Amino acid sequence: NCKNSDDVVKAVREHRIELVQFWFVDVLGTLKSFQVLPGELEAAFEEGMGFDGSSLEGFCRIEESDMIAIPDPATFQLVTWRQTAAPIARMFCDILEPNGTPFAGDSRHCLKRNLQAAASKGYSFYVGPELEFFLFESSASPKPLDAGGYFDAPPLDLAGDIRREIISCLRSMGIPVEYGHHEVAPSQHELALRYTDALKMADTAITYRVVVKEIARQNGCYASFMPKPLYGENGSGMHVHQSLFKNGRNLFYDTDGDHHLSREAKAYIAGLLTHCREFTAITNQWVNSYKRLVPGFEAPTNIAWARRNRSTLVRVPMYKPGKEAATRVELRSPDPACNPYLTFACMLAAGLKGIEENYELPAPVEEDIYVMTAGQRRDRGIGSLPGSLETALEALEGSTLIREALGEHIFTKFVENKHIEWDQYRSQVTNYELERYLPRL
Ligand code: GLN
Ligand code: MG
Ligand code: MG
Ligand code: MG
Repeated sequence: NCKNSDDVVKAVREHRIELVQFWFVDVLGTLKSFQVLPGELEAAFEEGMGFDGSSLEGFCRIEESDMIAIPDPATFQLVTWRQTAAPIARMFCDILEPNGTPFAGDSRHCLKRNLQAAASKGYSFYVGPELEFFLFESSASPKPLDAGGYFDAPPLDLAGDIRREIISCLRSMGIPVEYGHHEVAPSQHELALRYTDALKMADTAITYRVVVKEIARQNGCYASFMPKPLYGENGSGMHVHQSLFKNGRNLFYDTDGDHHLSREAKAYIAGLLTHCREFTAITNQWVNSYKRLVPGFEAPTNIAWARRNRSTLVRVPMYKPGKEAATRVELRSPDPACNPYLTFACMLAAGLKGIEENYELPAPVEEDIYVMTAGQRRDRGIGSLPGSLETALEALEGSTLIREALGEHIFTKFVENKHIEWDQYRSQVTNYELERYLPRL
């Protein structure tokens, strides 16, 4: 556990580390990495390492392309998914302009800025995401390795050993896994992570995706976080459990509140419900994300909350009712192919807005929303999530709250990028259309 650059330099020497990977993400949350030799580390901590920002998605224009990556010593970690002769390590980086100011296109900085704003009001933000994924034979075709379902054991679950290897690798990298299990769809899996502060967890989500993919590759298969790879089966979600702490206490817990929820917890949920349409393009950023958000597959389609009902957008888990540390709010719309930094930043902004403006929480909806008619939903005041990337972008573009949470730079680059994706998609002629229309029209 390193605290500062001296600790890192010492650890690199002691462990005879051959290379240190410098990690950061682009605006879509795609991991970028370069390998730094131990001899360069001291200079890297002082002055940063230069790179060409114009080649990265959502960074900057050609004429202002010099960027600097400064490693964060607190994220120093030995890389354990490969046994190399000499060990390697990694650190997450903050991105700066050549003049030393934080770069507005840096997702990690965006989350930090939102966390600082919350901290200035006394709030610490904790999150626990559940990242689901599929194991396929290869990236060329989504062929499942087994036909198992929820919590299945062998012989139906054929990936127990791969999961065990992933868990042990994550743990050896300091990532607190609580349990792993087969998920609902064939060849789908999930590992539950113990909650941490949001910045650490965003870094962790990036590491998790790398570790899962690397261990799968070593086992001759392909791990995918694609939100909906198989038609007719559950997609992969990234439910995010959230809580705010103030003065070391869980602010969401109230012994006397109904469902043991505090006034702040209720207003926070109301904030999520009120603003979720505006941040859906961030939590569900791909054309394919919206193939998951359809009725019947445990993914939310409508805007409501409940205690047990898994068809709602927000759930207040009731496993341990009345236990302070376990009191939390679960947002079920995000998928594991999101940019976790931006996703956590937007959720927090929406929830805090609810608290600040004292939003009122509507009644919970404990009935199955999937089977309600449109009329029944309208009568109950239950709105719906955007049904496509295009609709989600419209809602995002109209949002001052999310524009402020992301900052002008990220907001603009993200919207630009996603319009291109949507335009490319909508001009495709798909197999579905050919099969359906060609014989008839
Ligand atoms: N896979 C579901 C989703 O898309 C969740 C299923 C579960 O965790 N029980 O969100
Ligand atoms: Mg789970
Ligand atoms: Mg799950
Ligand atoms: Mg869940």
